[in-house]
Amino acid sequence: MVVDMPSSTNERFKEFFQAYQDENGRHTYVEQVQKMSLEGLLSLYVNYDDLLRFDPELARLLGEEPEETIKIADDALVEVLKIEDPIYAASEETKGLFHVRFSNLPDLVDLRRLRSVHLGNLIAVEGIVIRQTVVKPLLIEGVFQCVRCSQVHYVRQEGGYYTEPAKCVNPNCGKNGPFNLITEQSTYTDHQSITVQERPENLPPGQIPRSVPARLVGDLVDTVRAGDRAVVAGILRMKIKGMQKGRMATFDPWLDVNFVSSREKEFEEIDIDPDTEQQILALSTDINIHRRIVRSIAPSIYGMETIKEALATVLFGGVSRVAPDGMKQRGESNLLMIGDPGVAKSQLLQYVHRLAPRGLLTSGKASSAAGLTAAVIRDSETGDFGLEAGALVLADRGVCMIDEFDKMNPTDRSSIHESMEQQTVSIAKAGIVAQLNARTAIIAAANPRFGRYEESRPPVENINLPATILSRFDLIYVIKDEPDPDTDRRMARHILELRRGHVIEDTEPTIEMDLLRKYISFAKQHVQPALTDEAMERIEQFYLNLRKESDESSAIAITPRYLEAIIRLSESQARMALKEDVTIDHVEAAINLLRASLEQVGRDPVTGRVDIDFLLSGTTKTSRSKMQIIIDIMKEESRVGSSDVVSIRRIKELAKEQNIDEEFVDRVITQLRSNGEIYSPSDGFVKLA
Ligand code: ADP
Ligand code: MG
Repeated sequence: MVVDMPSSTNERFKEFFQAYQDENGRHTYVEQVQKMSLEGLLSLYVNYDDLLRFDPELARLLGEEPEETIKIADDALVEVLKIEDPIYAASEETKGLFHVRFSNLPDLVDLRRLRSVHLGNLIAVEGIVIRQTVVKPLLIEGVFQCVRCSQVHYVRQEGGYYTEPAKCVNPNCGKNGPFNLITEQSTYTDHQSITVQERPENLPPGQIPRSVPARLVGDLVDTVRAGDRAVVAGILRMKIKGMQKGRMATFDPWLDVNFVSSREKEFEEIDIDPDTEQQILALSTDINIHRRIVRSIAPSIYGMETIKEALATVLFGGVSRVAPDGMKQRGESNLLMIGDPGVAKSQLLQYVHRLAPRGLLTSGKASSAAGLTAAVIRDSETGDFGLEAGALVLADRGVCMIDEFDKMNPTDRSSIHESMEQQTVSIAKAGIVAQLNARTAIIAAANPRFGRYEESRPPVENINLPATILSRFDLIYVIKDEPDPDTDRRMARHILELRRGHVIEDTEPTIEMDLLRKYISFAKQHVQPALTDEAMERIEQFYLNLRKESDESSAIAITPRYLEAIIRLSESQARMALKEDVTIDHVEAAINLLRASLEQVGRDPVTGRVDIDFLLSGTTKTSRSKMQIIIDIMKEESRVGSSDVVSIRRIKELAKEQNIDEEFVDRVITQLRSNGEIYSPSDGFVKLA
């Protein structure tokens, strides 16, 4: 389509750049132009509102004929630059690379509503960058030489596709080639493909996220990276290469980017109006605020008070800090629920997902290649290697809910440690070296390895996850489905009443979900609690007590990691009440949460004491030494006996003399057999390997 542009458009842009004054009378655009060479900039940033105010006609043209208008604006910029800074304007390195970029466009299109009517329009979309490719040179002006007559041609490359001269312009030749590209005389810029996807929290449940590929050229490359939230504006084009006659005439759209702004990734998405703010502040003064919040978490799910309290605490989160030596201390806590099937783990996650500001719900067996961390992918169009952000990166500054955590893919298994502790995801593969942010709290659910949680076995055996991953959870809770007439009756009543649409009554009114979400968002933004002296003392005392217990039995009751966990949880507790000071009460609540967790998964069933070794390695000091006794018995028996085959009955007799019960002997034999340390030549007998 050839468009007749008023010849004055160029003049009007120059006029705008030179004459525009802001409310303080400053010539903002002239000043920008003058500073360009100093800062090595190639782009002039124009606020659309300024343009609209100064010259509505130009703004209209930009909307109607964006392609032509932007080109004219670019030319006008070069002309103004020639006046303001002739040397920079004329320099070889900048030739053809000056651009005007338009921010604050009125047409912010929801990615979900991107349609064919938008083709050719200048639009802005808002989303999260999920994919980025490596940066490659892109030919913008090719210098071609006719092989027959040596005539030289300059051909501008439009739309990113390689274009040769149609035919030789030499009147004596006029052939259509062949032509050689003279690479060293041609002009290049940089090129990078990205993919922008709608924000995870905007995604209606069960929907596949929509995305649009976009191309960054020139100084735009590497201004955003995978995981960033950004506003990306440009002309929506369609891919026309590779179309075939007789095929469906459908096109793939892509965004030819004019402007990118990486959004500051705080909680700016949630607007809290002054009325709501008053409501939030009023709520926080309720002395029962903690209880009310906990009761407002998934009210339709019966019981599970501790877990709900833990969930609430994790949602509020502690304060992330950077120590004076540059070490980052994460404020986000990680929580794992491990439970029998059908105990509402998935339901809880779903609920928390709807409640959490910036929550992302995924499954360990996520369908995307990037999984939980990140992956190197090949761009389907250019074939370039690229980086795709996984769930933890997309949930940066938010909460990542992961169901079926134990089913995560092997690459995630090996790389998730870093994101759980350092809150970054590093990737170094196929020439791509990158570190992405993953400052997220993790709330995960897993099923027990044997179908049901077996109390007699240590957590590492029950959970199909390595101890190194388990140790990075601040809190681990076991939810068991045990028949109990009383609870069963109450739960049945609860579920049945809900089905009939009855509201479950309680003394405390719950907080409506929308308000609670804003409350959480407000707390995270405005409340940064710090420990008081008493709080510090209480934490220290708790920690030292548990450490002291460790010394006596020489089993480890607690590691320094849990000290940090307590601090995070205490800060979260203070945040729940919008308090800047962490008091003893907050610490007590945090300790209770941690203790409940340790009682469930860290208690040695033999001594009844909390023992981190039991949680993490599956053997405790006591069971280790008892195991050694049994092995010693076997060794002794096979030495003195007539053959080296030992009867299990005999082992049990001798073990009993040392106060070791038969069940324990059976367990040890099973374990030794699966380790290959012993085998059974016949039933009831074992032999050392
Ligand atoms: P899981 O993921 O633990 O296997 P689900 O979240 O799929 O279990 O829950 C199974 C069903 O049982 C859900 O419909 C849930 O609402 C119900 N359910 C289980 N426990 C409770 C409970 N304590 N209160 C209310 N409903 C429950
Ligand atoms: Mg489930």
